[in-house]
Amino acid sequence: MDNFHKKLSEVLQNENGCLCEEPMSRHTTFRVGGPAQYFITVTNPVELTGVLKLCNEYDVPITVLGNGSNVLVSDAGIRGAVLRLSGEFLKSEITEDVSGQTLLVTVGAGRMLSSFAMEVARLGYTGAEFAAGIPGTVGGAVMMNAGAYGGEIKDCIQNAEWVSFEGECRGFQREELQLSYRHSIFSEKQGMITKAGFCFPKGEKEEILSKIEQLNRMRREKQPLEYPSAGSTFKRPEGHFAGKLIQDCGLAGYSVGGAQVSEKHCGFIINREAATAQEVYRLIYEVSDRVEKEFGVRLEPEVRFLGKFTE
Ligand SMILES: Cc1cc2nc3c(=O)[nH]c(=O)nc-3n(C[C@H](O)[C@H](O)[C@H](O)COP(=O)(O)OP(=O)(O)OC[C@H]3O[C@@H](n4cnc5c(N)ncnc54)[C@H](O)[C@@H]3O)c2cc1C
Repeated sequence: MDNFHKKLSEVLQNENGCLCEEPMSRHTTFRVGGPAQYFITVTNPVELTGVLKLCNEYDVPITVLGNGSNVLVSDAGIRGAVLRLSGEFLKSEITEDVSGQTLLVTVGAGRMLSSFAMEVARLGYTGAEFAAGIPGTVGGAVMMNAGAYGGEIKDCIQNAEWVSFEGECRGFQREELQLSYRHSIFSEKQGMITKAGFCFPKGEKEEILSKIEQLNRMRREKQPLEYPSAGSTFKRPEGHFAGKLIQDCGLAGYSVGGAQVSEKHCGFIINREAATAQEVYRLIYEVSDRVEKEFGVRLEPEVRFLGKFTE
């Protein structure tokens, strides 16, 4: 055990708080990715502050991970510390305003967005339906301004709390969050979202639940949920749909090793059969190049790359 690891076990109160050389394929929805040198789960603010302080002291680089549903981790893995939230960071505080017409929720950034959206729906409040089928955490969703079927985080978020890698805590109000298509102020910041506040108006519970049913059915019909992936691989280019451009290039089913352009939905690259991260990466760029050559539109990955890839 090195010194950093020893000190970590003093700071972390939870068992298995730090796993060494933990395969990231276990923690990403693509099911690929090499080991994280230190895979650290923090369960409360005291642990988080302690871990950040140690990382700074020992010059250990930090990577933040949510549910790993929008990342591609390289086969070489990630050097340094990969931080994930659990424990207190999964809790929510719910308040109904006196009129009973508005629900205010503060939710820990480690909580799964889908379970949060279902809780809001079951209480009879509307506005989180779009989020029920997105397999990320609240933190990852705020970071990415996740959205689907006409709704996005931007529509319901009120504020967010964030801690920089240097340990400085800061609150942001919604107008400061710079939310736009798959972008937030945090996209350019080195730190971790720890909680977020949301507001939802009263609705008709049965209608809300049946809308969620309907959206989830559409997902199952249109998306290759039976294979590991990171959802839509590319951002939507202005005036086009990535999936349609890829399909029109004749790339449905095109593969590099075990990575494949889904035949069901060309906007998804799937891990069809024991793909490596490098194969997924190569396929992403081959597809982008082909679409650019054919239609003059450059597809930009929505998926975030972690670790080192070979060009
Ligand atoms: C089958 C499938 C369907 C999907 N459908 C949709 C969809 O409809 N709409 C949509 O928008 N996305 C969709 N996605 C993509 C993905 O679920 C979202 O982008 C989600 O918001 C990512 O959250 P995460 O917790 O998994 O983040 P991760 O993938 O773990 O991380 C994504 C980025 O956010 C950062 N991050 C994560 N947590 C934090 C935090 N607490 N603080 C600071 N930074 C953080 C990471 O460092 C990384 O840069 C889909 C993915 C899959 C696999």
